[in-house]
This record gives sequence, C-alpha cells and structure tokens, in this order.
Amino acid sequence: MKISRRSLIGASAAGLASSALGLSGLQPSFERARKKGAKNPKNIIFCVVDGMAIQTMSMANQYQQMVLGHPSYWASLLNQDYVTSGLEETSSLNSLVTDSAAASSSWGSGRHIWNGMLNIYPDGTELRTLVSLMHEQGVRCGLVTTTAITDATPAGFAISSISRGLEDEIAEKYLKSGVDVLLGGGTSHFAPEKRKDGKDMFAEFAKVGFAVSRSRDELLAKKGKKLLGLFSDGSIPYTVDRNNTPEIKRDVPTLAEMVTAALEALKDSPKGFLLQLEGGRVDHGGHANDLAALLYDQMAFEEALKVVVDFALKDGETLVIVTADHATGGPSLNGAGKEYIESTGGLKLLSGMKSSYGPLQADLGNTFTRGNVQDAVEARLGIKLSGEEAEAIVAAKKNDSPLKSAQFLAPLGMTLAAMLGNHTKVTWTSGNHTSDHVLVTALGPGSEQVAGVTKNVHFFDLMLATKGIKWSNPTMTFEDASRHYEKLQSEVNLEASSLGYGTL
Ligand SMILES: [Zn+2]
Repeated sequence: MKISRRSLIGASAAGLASSALGLSGLQPSFERARKKGAKNPKNIIFCVVDGMAIQTMSMANQYQQMVLGHPSYWASLLNQDYVTSGLEETSSLNSLVTDSAAASSSWGSGRHIWNGMLNIYPDGTELRTLVSLMHEQGVRCGLVTTTAITDATPAGFAISSISRGLEDEIAEKYLKSGVDVLLGGGTSHFAPEKRKDGKDMFAEFAKVGFAVSRSRDELLAKKGKKLLGLFSDGSIPYTVDRNNTPEIKRDVPTLAEMVTAALEALKDSPKGFLLQLEGGRVDHGGHANDLAALLYDQMAFEEALKVVVDFALKDGETLVIVTADHATGGPSLNGAGKEYIESTGGLKLLSGMKSSYGPLQADLGNTFTRGNVQDAVEARLGIKLSGEEAEAIVAAKKNDSPLKSAQFLAPLGMTLAAMLGNHTKVTWTSGNHTSDHVLVTALGPGSEQVAGVTKNVHFFDLMLATKGIKWSNPTMTFEDASRHYEKLQSEVNLEASSLGYGTL
C-alpha cells in the first residue's frame, strides 16, 4: 500500500482539529483528581474488550434483561455510586481508525503509533513500555487474553516490534519483558514443532521459573508466582462454541478462570501488580459479522470482569479500568416491522444460536447449495432462511454476491450476516474497525480520573502516575512517520513480514 496524498491530507486534518481546539495535554479531570490529593492504588487491573462498540455492550444488556431476567454485569456496574465513567478517543498515528497494535501501544507507551506496529516508530525508534517501567519498580505484571498471548493487545503493554505479525519473536521477547503471568492462546508460537526456528519456548519459560500449563485441569491445579498457560494453537475458541462442545469445556479454561488464576499468582506482590485482561474475540466476532460469536464472548468477558471487580472491592487498593481499544463491525439492532415490533424478537433469536460461523462453514465445506445452506443455518443457528436468501449466500461463495460492488459488504461472511439480519434485525457497517469513541468505566483509588473524554495515550500517564513514575517517550509527527514508513516499505517485503496487518 502506497500512502496517497489524499490520505496524508486527511490524517493531517484530523491532527489539526484536535490541536486547534487546544485539547492536548492531560485531561482536566486528571488534574482535578490530583489537586484533591487522590490516593494512589497499589494494583492496577486494565480490562479491555477488544473491538467492543457501545452497541455490542447495549445488545448484551438488552438480551440478558429480556431472556435471563437481569441486566448485564457491566450495565449493573455503571449504576454503582463508586464507579466513574467516560469515553475514550481511539485514533492512531496514521488514522482515525486504529488497529489493536496501535491501540494497545497508546496505553503501553503513551504515544500514537502507526497501525500494525507495537511501541515503535517506522524509523525503528523503540519506546519504553508500561510493563518495563513498572517491572523496574518491582511491580509484578500479568497478561490474560482469549486471543494468542502474542497478539497485539497483550503485546502492546510489554513489547516493541516493527510488526504485530512477528509473533514467534514476540513470544521470545516476553522472556525478558518483565511479565510474570501469561495466560491465553498461542501455543503455536511456543511449541518447537510449530515455531519456524524450532525453539522450545515452553522449556525456556520453565527454566526461568514459570509454571507451565497446557490444559484447564493443569491451570486449575498449578500454583506458582509465575505462570505460562496456553490452551489453544491460536485464539481460544469462541464462547458459543465452547458452550456447545464438551471437549472445549473440558480442556480450555474460561476467561474468568484464567483471571482468577492470574490474581492468585499476583495478589501478594509487595509493590503491587499490573494486570491486563483482554476479552479479545469480541473483535473477531465483529470482523466476522457473527452475532453469536460477538455477544456470547461479550458475556464471557463480563463474567471475568465480575471476578476482577469482586477482587478490587475486597482489596480496596486496586484501580480497575474497563474499556475497549476501538469498535469493530458497527453492529446495531435496527428498528424493523410496523412500529418496530419485530426488533425485540429479532435479538431474541440469539438464544437459538449454537455455534459461530466457523462450524457452520465447516459443515458446508464446498457444498454450498441453496438446500444445504438452509439446512446448515437452521441446524446451527435456528433460523430458517428463505430460498432467495440462501441463493444470495451461494452466490457470495462463488464471489458473485449481489453486494460485490459494495466495498464493506462483499465477502461471504458479510452476505451471510446481511441475510441473517433479515431475521435478527441486526446489521453491520463492515467487517472492519470503526472510529467510534468507546466506553470507559473505572473504580477504586484514582478511578475519578477517567471522567470525561480521554485520549487513549493518556492512560499511560495515568497508570505511571499511580506509582510516581515519570516517563515521556519521544514523539513523531504523522508527516515524519509517513516518510519513514515509505522508506521501510521499499526496504522490506511488507506482505511477508505482515506489516500490512492494519485491519485487525
Ligand atoms: Zn480487530
């Protein structure tokens, strides 16, 4: 991808708008809280739902009220008087729409970064990370996720890398990063038979005192101050697939179980701890336009959030921040039918969905016919597609979708989602990230600082300030970064190095 002059002008204009309004520097609410002499927390738990649009949180809340008879956990939390809420701006160095690497780096180094990179500028300037600065002060650090542990969001707290795609290298960098707990997926970047260089990273971590677990039973049995637990080759399976597959339930821990283990390992740290908890696959559900994947994983994240909040309320010295890195997919429940009477029943169809799109597409393989599509969708998702709707999906499989000229709606998954949307009344803006502000909720000492609209990069300062750490990473303008990026493009094979990873 060459950078067009138009994209340069667009990004400059975005930067200009914020500086012209004088919105740089710390949030006024941060300053107010400091003047009040707010107490510093001992521990920080930073909870991220990757890709959660406010609509995702809303639909999970509405669904639970309607079907389970109670609001979602996050919605209940928002009503507590000890909670502060605000919004976060999510842009990156090169776009108003961030990827997860730049988003997590904004928290991890306090700087806007080029999409696809981790705590580094395109000229190779590496930035100090939150984990390295905290570790230096004796703060213990942990990362827990439902994606690969080497994926962008966990890595963004601890690692510098020119590409988020260099996951074998990221696994190795964790060894010396100062992280004490790593729980999630991503076995393929640690097992010698899967790594390109054949190194046994499980053995390397065991050598330096990590208790290693590869299954749910092992995690629940293992005790130790340092934990490496990986339970899937790549991402942990979606919650909706877990709920309907006994082997996954048996072998793979839930996010709530992983965070419980992490807290157990970190809680007695004399200088406190920093833990990042990520519900990483809400983003994947958004990319796939897959409602069951999206909302069941949202609910699983909120179950883990309850574990965190219960810990913090009991402990009294823990700052909990809950937010998203960006929104993904633009899902919304639309008004449908006369006086919108069909909308409620549309969302209720979620209760009949027994899988993500993965098993459904595996059922169909290469046998996409009108009848097969109708049967598979009914069996997996409980929805009876019309013949016409099934035909549209068959056409998309042949790359002949009626939507094929629509940039954001052409792929098979998007066509499937559009046809399902006739029934669920939920539709999507694209399979990509969007620029929306995201919700921030916080509790515990220092939580009042998240009120208002906060830029993503300011969370770095906020978290360091709780430990009295002062660190300012170098800055780079968009124009300088673009120049270096162009040079980098001419020097390396971007496809091979996954540098063009910016859409995930
Ligand atoms: Zn994403």
